[in-house]
Amino acid sequence: MQLTFWGVRGSIPAPDRDAWRYGGNTPCLELRDPDGQLFILDAGTGIRDLGRQLMSEMTTPGLAANLLFTHYHWDHVQGLPFFEPIYFQGNTLNLFGPRPQADAPSSLAGVLHALFRAPFFPVATSALRASLPLRELDPVSDFTLGKTRIRTCRTNHPQGAIAYRFESRGASIVYATDHEPGNAELDQGLRQLARGADVLISDAQYRPEELGAQKAGWGHGSWKASAELARAVGVKHLVLFHHEPIRTDFELDHIVVQAREIFPATWAAQEGMRLQVSRREVRLETRSHRLSPRAPVHLPAHVEVESNGNRVREEARVENFSFQGAYLLSPCAYELQQPIDLAVPLPANGNGHRRRAETAGELRLRGYVVRAEALTTDSGWMGIGVIFPGSREAQAVAQPAAPAPDSGAPEPGAPPAGTPDSD
Ligand SMILES: [Zn+2]
Ligand SMILES: [Zn+2]
Repeated sequence: MQLTFWGVRGSIPAPDRDAWRYGGNTPCLELRDPDGQLFILDAGTGIRDLGRQLMSEMTTPGLAANLLFTHYHWDHVQGLPFFEPIYFQGNTLNLFGPRPQADAPSSLAGVLHALFRAPFFPVATSALRASLPLRELDPVSDFTLGKTRIRTCRTNHPQGAIAYRFESRGASIVYATDHEPGNAELDQGLRQLARGADVLISDAQYRPEELGAQKAGWGHGSWKASAELARAVGVKHLVLFHHEPIRTDFELDHIVVQAREIFPATWAAQEGMRLQVSRREVRLETRSHRLSPRAPVHLPAHVEVESNGNRVREEARVENFSFQGAYLLSPCAYELQQPIDLAVPLPANGNGHRRRAETAGELRLRGYVVRAEALTTDSGWMGIGVIFPGSREAQAVAQPAAPAPDSGAPEPGAPPAGTPDSD
């Protein structure tokens, strides 16, 4: 099975500068079984990008997918109106979700109509051209789609929610978001569902101290409870999920380190992260984080890491650096949001890379002015803040300094200089 994370954040989208690496979209996962059958787990804002991806892969409408909701809180349904395939005839999206309960009277059909209704959304369900068969599930159910077996159990969450277990060709994935540990009966049900799974995706919204204090009863777990559950039921890998909106990348990095002390095979869910799950192994890939132009350098370096309590120092070599921004001094005034091209001569150094050593190059960066201020000195010069976005037209190109060619082509025979990714 192949599992891709499109949204990992709980409660509300968090498009925050210091949280972009793990990502700010609310829950949505793409699961493909070995026969290519597509399951979409929850329809948080992450489903918008998944929809764009699916549309770009399709030449004619004919998508067949299963969308399974854990429950109907905003963060798990709010992306559906922006999931493009539902507007095209020929696509089929089978919708699954928990059936109404005493404490959660919402039906799947009622939720669908509420999402496409004034005053919340301008388009009515009559505009949905795709076929959308609904199927409501008992909280504890066991059924098969294609060759994939699906089982569910209740989780401990205000107005109820369900967790899913998917099994195919001996591999198993459990999606258990929006669960607060502490209800003996529901904890036991989840332990049974998760037992021995290859991958457990678990609600880790809070720190243990938050869960024990002001956020008790809000329906979420902690990284510590997730790691203890993973250890207790013998799963192979744990993925911390439904991150608190205010949690920064740096804080999540630290949480992973702490969780690994309890359960070593832990990762934190991250947008773009992909798991290849088979009975034999689980392989992890993450998307590239090259969001800004890169400039080639060739510098000897060292890497130090903690390994079994020892600090280990290894040799390495830096091949390029990324550029996100710069602060310039200039005698000219520039407008905010004005595009500018910055050219910086590269030194003709002898740093070990012969071709570079022979050619003094020039680093060209396309940027945009984000700050312009008069300096306090009476020089008349301005301070100019510039960012270098990671688009293709803004790549960093090292090229011979003189004469400067018009095009941004790298020098012949050189490795590509600065290769920002399309993401
Ligand atoms: Zn949620
Ligand atoms: Zn919820």
